[in-house]
Amino acid sequence: MKIYSANWRRSVISLVGTILLGSAIAPSQEHIGQISQQLTTKQGVKYWTTRGNVVPVCWETTGYDREKQISKSAVMNSWGYWTNITFTGWGSCPTSGDAELVRIRIGPQGPENAGAGGQARIGEDALSKAADNSPGMNLGFDANVADQGRVEYVAIHEFGHILGFIHEQDAPRRCCRRSTNLWNSPSKRRKS
Ligand SMILES: [Zn+2]
Repeated sequence: MKIYSANWRRSVISLVGTILLGSAIAPSQEHIGQISQQLTTKQGVKYWTTRGNVVPVCWETTGYDREKQISKSAVMNSWGYWTNITFTGWGSCPTSGDAELVRIRIGPQGPENAGAGGQARIGEDALSKAADNSPGMNLGFDANVADQGRVEYVAIHEFGHILGFIHEQDAPRRCCRRSTNLWNSPSKRRKS
């Protein structure tokens, strides 16, 4: 399914998951269902539609190769797969010039929150030039030992902000519905 067209404000993402249950006698595949839920974007956000749905990404910080690879794979296999957004680059950020990129700065983090955290600006506001010294995304990792699942969660979450989404708990109140999606599942509603 493709989302992120020019005229959407609230979009729907569907996630289909399957798990394989096996037994010694007869392995069987169980379909565990599909979740469809609208996500909320920031009012007045500048969508990437104005840039051909291309999000240019670069790393400001050297090192953290493991966490970078986990993050990139998580983003490409989630937002990159389920939307028609193209994430380009993923190399080292230029240190000069006027290129506007989603610059990601990484800092050290201790073992709290399973060794990973982050924050990001919303939509195209995440773009910056080298001289701005204002990366659109900041990530923190406990290098080489951060929990892989937590790194994946943080990366997907922060790139959700990059695409324009806000926290569902910050969205205008909607009647009679609780958020239970992967974006803000109650068990993962940490500061990130
Ligand atoms: Zn967030």
